[in-house]
Amino acid sequence: MSNVYPSNPDCIFCKIVAGEIPCHKVYECSNVLAFLDIGPLSEGHVLVIPKGHWETLEAVPAPIVAECAIVCKRVGRAVAKVTGCAGWNLLQNNGAVAGQEVPHVHFHIIPRAEGDGLGYRWNAGALDQDRAGQLRDAIAAAADELADQTAPQEL
Ligand code: 5GP
Ligand code: ZN
Repeated sequence: MSNVYPSNPDCIFCKIVAGEIPCHKVYECSNVLAFLDIGPLSEGHVLVIPKGHWETLEAVPAPIVAECAIVCKRVGRAVAKVTGCAGWNLLQNNGAVAGQEVPHVHFHIIPRAEGDGLGYRWNAGALDQDRAGQLRDAIAAAADELADQTAPQEL
């Protein structure tokens, strides 16, 4: 029996899942698909996506998030083995303001090498100690309150 996923007929990744647009598939399981990015940042750049159409990570049911993470690990290892990269970035642009262009959740696996020049801006600030306590309390309370009903009990 095939799984039923939420789907969006206007979504390019849903079209890839449906086989309406071709892709270079590297891995597939019941809920997750991985394929080569059409605009690679480096050789072996792969996208891992849930087959269902969810725009951002918070909308994805917890077991499918877990399956995506497991596939990221497996495919990341495969990419590293084949490309011989020294390391790789796992990147998920969550929301347009965070750089997400395709509104269907996806994880980038980006092979990295010394001196590859890819980089990214990481303008680190300094954690204000007073504000840190307030933030910790507020985020901890929100995390308790927002417990995902689809997650295993301990989560
Ligand atoms: P985002 O900016 O949303 O995190 O990344 C979207 C990624 O999807 C980009 O890296 C882009 O190259 C890739 N992409 C967009 N359209 C297609 C497509 O039709 N096929 C494949 N394989 N990748 C795509
Ligand atoms: Zn979609």
